[in-house]
Amino acid sequence: MNSNTRPLGVLAALPQELGDLIAAMQAESAVDKRTFGQRDYYVGTVHGVSCVVTLARVGKVAAAATASALIHAFDVEAIVFTGVAGGVGEEVHVGDVVVGETLLQHDMNAEPLFPRYEIPLLGRARFDADRALASALAAACERFVEEQGAALAARFKDALPRLAQALPRVHRGLVISGDQFVASAAAVGALREALPDALAVEMEGAAIAQVCFEYGVPCAVVRTISDTADEHASVSFSSFLTDIAGTYSSGILRQFLAAYGAAVR
Ligand code: SAH
Repeated sequence: MNSNTRPLGVLAALPQELGDLIAAMQAESAVDKRTFGQRDYYVGTVHGVSCVVTLARVGKVAAAATASALIHAFDVEAIVFTGVAGGVGEEVHVGDVVVGETLLQHDMNAEPLFPRYEIPLLGRARFDADRALASALAAACERFVEEQGAALAARFKDALPRLAQALPRVHRGLVISGDQFVASAAAVGALREALPDALAVEMEGAAIAQVCFEYGVPCAVVRTISDTADEHASVSFSSFLTDIAGTYSSGILRQFLAAYGAAVR
């Protein structure tokens, strides 16, 4: 059994992004469901780890409020966020995975009072994920691709024809967040130009990273690429979310939690 004394917070924006996690928790342990602020928090054991699992819903405010509740009401020892994102880096394709090493809010702009992107009064724009957690997540992604890559390519050959040539890649680096679904070549081009090291764009990660920084709670973010933030983004995002996101999240979290449980045991 697990022996992490404080639970791990596991978070996604939308239900499809949690995959089978809540079902796996229900199969493995008694689950205590608690509701705060219109969100359900599932407390139990999953893949051998004591966890609190919940949905943040979409956007930075939703994500920050949920991270704050995980810290205050559940005293989580760390927070892991899983979900989908738009690919921004040139080499980042639909079906790849990005592990955030650093996170930034691309829509924060209090110029000329503060430098572009800097969070006023916090003196920084970039928030680091916990190194050990991010490495463990990346290793879990690599194992997932190694074990499931061929099956993914066969199962999703229509949606992800690229996988017939090359297995999904696991990237590590900058993930940017803002309260916008980025869905045009112009918008993603502007982000690429302003933040050339950005790999992926989404709507929650950097808000969680800010709250975790403020409280000294380790966090990490893993994102499967559902679209490339251009004119095709909404169609690509919707079909990926419905058909594929859960398979990635379930597989990655299973690998990650099994290793996490073994490490704290
Ligand atoms: N509730 C709606 C909208 C989801 S918004 C729906 O279900 O259709 C998109 C979500 O996926 C956000 O949580 C965001 O973090 C992520 N995401 C995926 N692609 C994105 C993109 N191109 N731009 C911004 N966020 C993206």
